[in-house]
Amino acid sequence: MDPITVFDKERHVFFLQVMLDSLPAEYETQEINTLTLAYFAVSALKILDALDLVDKVQIVNWVLSFQAHPKDESELKNGMGSSMDFMGRKVLSTQMPIQSFMPTHIGAETDLRFVYCAAAICSMCDNWIGMDKGKAKDYIVQCQSYDGGFGLVPGSESHGGATYCAVAALQLMGFIEDDILNKFRPSSVINVPMLVEWSMQRQAADGGFNGRANKPSDTCYAFWVGGVLKMLGAYQLLDRVALRRFLLSCQSQYGGFTKFPENMLPELYHSYYGFSALSLLEEPGLNPLCVELGFPL
Ligand SMILES: [Zn+2]
Repeated sequence: MDPITVFDKERHVFFLQVMLDSLPAEYETQEINTLTLAYFAVSALKILDALDLVDKVQIVNWVLSFQAHPKDESELKNGMGSSMDFMGRKVLSTQMPIQSFMPTHIGAETDLRFVYCAAAICSMCDNWIGMDKGKAKDYIVQCQSYDGGFGLVPGSESHGGATYCAVAALQLMGFIEDDILNKFRPSSVINVPMLVEWSMQRQAADGGFNGRANKPSDTCYAFWVGGVLKMLGAYQLLDRVALRRFLLSCQSQYGGFTKFPENMLPELYHSYYGFSALSLLEEPGLNPLCVELGFPL
């Protein structure tokens, strides 16, 4: 078997099943991210059309075991609780005067990642009561840099992950149309031609995408930046053959993907975004994605 040209689906499914069963010791420091890691493994199996292999009831019960149930009004005010109505009010309590969001109501760093999370939560719950969309849009627009990409905060360097958060949040909130480039209608919100130009410049000579100028190609940016081009209707502009070749060179012999071609061991984060990127490339046998929410349909 030639590992450069073949997508080894069976090996990937086996890798994900092993990860769901028991994480290697190297993940010990990631204990607080257990739910995220499970999300990557379960969603990746869905992309690979192999979700029938997991015990769904067991996983659902395990996820629900993390749900906090407030005993009284004071606990509700302090952030415990998860009813749909409270989730909306909770999101609102994390929106800052400068229109960005913080991850918890007691304060922390604020940037585009949390604006995107707020928009994703409101979209999935179909409840926007907790978000001032106009103010959030104004904040995102301030984060578009002179080169067309978006930085995490106004005035910062353009970055692939921040750019995905900006474009996906604007799309979830209804400020930019899906496939806007093919509708020949300029956006009144952001500079789309410069954004496409910056995104196209992220594809390097080896076919992969980097997250910033002068950085090496990395598996995950094939989704973060590729997803931006997909949402804008510009995906056909990238070199898909070269990107697929790069991604397949990051397949691990153990299943899963590595961050760089020369890495030995796969991990869940880059595996998930490797599968996601190949789904965008319409690799046969893979399920399509909801690009703006980053999960399989
Ligand atoms: Zn990465």
